[in-house]
Amino acid sequence: MDKLLLGTSNPSKLLELRQLLKGLEYRFVDPTEVKLKRPLQIAETGATFEENAAIKAQGYAAASGLLTLADDSGLEIEALGGEPGVYSARYGGEELSYPQRFELILERLLGCQGEQRRARFRCVMALATPKGDLTCWEASLDGLIALQPRGDGGFGYDPIFYVPELGATLAEARPGLKNLYSHRGRAALKARQVLELRMAGARA
Ligand code: IMP
Repeated sequence: MDKLLLGTSNPSKLLELRQLLKGLEYRFVDPTEVKLKRPLQIAETGATFEENAAIKAQGYAAASGLLTLADDSGLEIEALGGEPGVYSARYGGEELSYPQRFELILERLLGCQGEQRRARFRCVMALATPKGDLTCWEASLDGLIALQPRGDGGFGYDPIFYVPELGATLAEARPGLKNLYSHRGRAALKARQVLELRMAGARA
């Protein structure tokens, strides 16, 4: 079975990606399981999710010699002009915990009610070959910023992201349900198609 590198060092993302891509005829490996040809420092210097997804996928693919799938994702809050956006992982400073980030966001949204709390999770996935060929696609999930953090599943901003269709935050959703709705889950459906087509092409 061909190897496919999942280009992320975030253990929560890795877990979700492995669940979402289950059943495909690839042996999924993460950066700790492969010998890189050269040391790799990924600097997420892009101004957009797409640029950062490409930096990660192409960086890992070139360093490992493996077909690589990476995602760049984040939370955009309408009332905050789209913040935290590409800075989601370090919003408020690298040293803040997620509960501290929730506090910061909830404070900034004081006075916003109902639809004024609109937010969107976005995910751009990128598939890169060691030669540098790149395919990108995007998916999103709309929701509202909850009044208080709720639930202990998922990761990152899940406890403050309320999904009206679920009547719950992503952190309250029962195991497996987040993947059916999430930005990453939706992007992974497309990943499955792209990877299945590649497999079929290689067999033909
Ligand atoms: P990245 O590694 O630069 O793509 O960072 C993405 C950041 O966006 C994460 O560290 C989280 O803060 C946030 N994020 C992305 N996807 C999710 C999700 O599914 N749930 C909660 N937070 C997420």
